[in-house]
Amino acid sequence: MHIVSLAGGIGGARFLRGLRAAAPDADITVIGNTGDDITLFGLRVCPDLDTVMYTLGGGIDEEQGWGRAKESHVVKEELAAYGVEPQWFGLGDRDFATHIVRSQMLEAGYPLSQITEALCARWQPGVRLLPMSDDRCETHVVINDAQGRRAVHFQEWWVRLRASVPAESIALVGVDTARPAPGVLEAIASADFVIFPPSNPVVSIGTILQVPGIREALLPKTVVGVSPIIGGAPVRGMADACLTAIGVETTAQAVLDLYGSDLVNGWLVAEEDADVSLSGVQVEARPLLMNSPDATTALARAALTLAQALTP
Ligand code: GDP
Ligand code: CA
Repeated sequence: MHIVSLAGGIGGARFLRGLRAAAPDADITVIGNTGDDITLFGLRVCPDLDTVMYTLGGGIDEEQGWGRAKESHVVKEELAAYGVEPQWFGLGDRDFATHIVRSQMLEAGYPLSQITEALCARWQPGVRLLPMSDDRCETHVVINDAQGRRAVHFQEWWVRLRASVPAESIALVGVDTARPAPGVLEAIASADFVIFPPSNPVVSIGTILQVPGIREALLPKTVVGVSPIIGGAPVRGMADACLTAIGVETTAQAVLDLYGSDLVNGWLVAEEDADVSLSGVQVEARPLLMNSPDATTALARAALTLAQALTP
């Protein structure tokens, strides 16, 4: 069995851990979001790829959901002592090493897909982790605050401003000329079915779907999605701010409508959203909270079972 999953950061990574447990014999290919990537202190940082790699590789800070376990912050403090900006993005010492290796390899001419494979050789995530593209494309957000109307990097809006300033629009800069990373379209073509974890529908899944060719490749496939929205609110984070920016309500129904019945064949919602429906989509209500390993595995198993039932 070959399963393809798209993934952002925390929501995606946690779900994938459940999927690996629910389907221990399956080949799983993960197509990771790189729209959140940012260059800091001359280093290329790929937050979502690293969250998936650390989570599946056993190196994640479990409570925080991102970054390394047993982390220290000496380098960050030293940079701050020099007054070097930005100081709002938390990079720990252990994490810095990952970004140094990645940046060194980029400088030497390796594509991000090969670098990700090299980093995963250490972490052994038990899935094949591919960036959505080797071409640089970054999510930027247009905001209008006391400093005026301007576009900022997604991370500045998300991390520094905690999405407290409304986004007027969200754009994936560079996507027009981006190509899917080597292996992405092949993985989708050979997949038995595809699963969308409860990742952010705008800046994680939505970003991956914008890479030319990926959405088209998914259309003939059986796709089952898990709602990141329960009872009108994101389970964690500020996905509502992203949905509002693109004019979509923060409901499991609106996210399903956004994906559309041409793309998604099955949709898992929480019990309180059992009235969600869309012609051509099989909607099932299940416990959607990934609050323990068992609950997460059960959720992944529910997605698997539905995908298998819908696969011709
Ligand atoms: P990020 O890149 O770290 O923001 O992570 P993702 O894009 O992968 O996932 C973020 C989304 O995961 C948010 O919209 C949350 O609502 C959703 N999420 C987090 N925990 C859970 C959970 O336990 N259950 C469900 N259904 N969604 C969750
Ligand atoms: Ca992310």
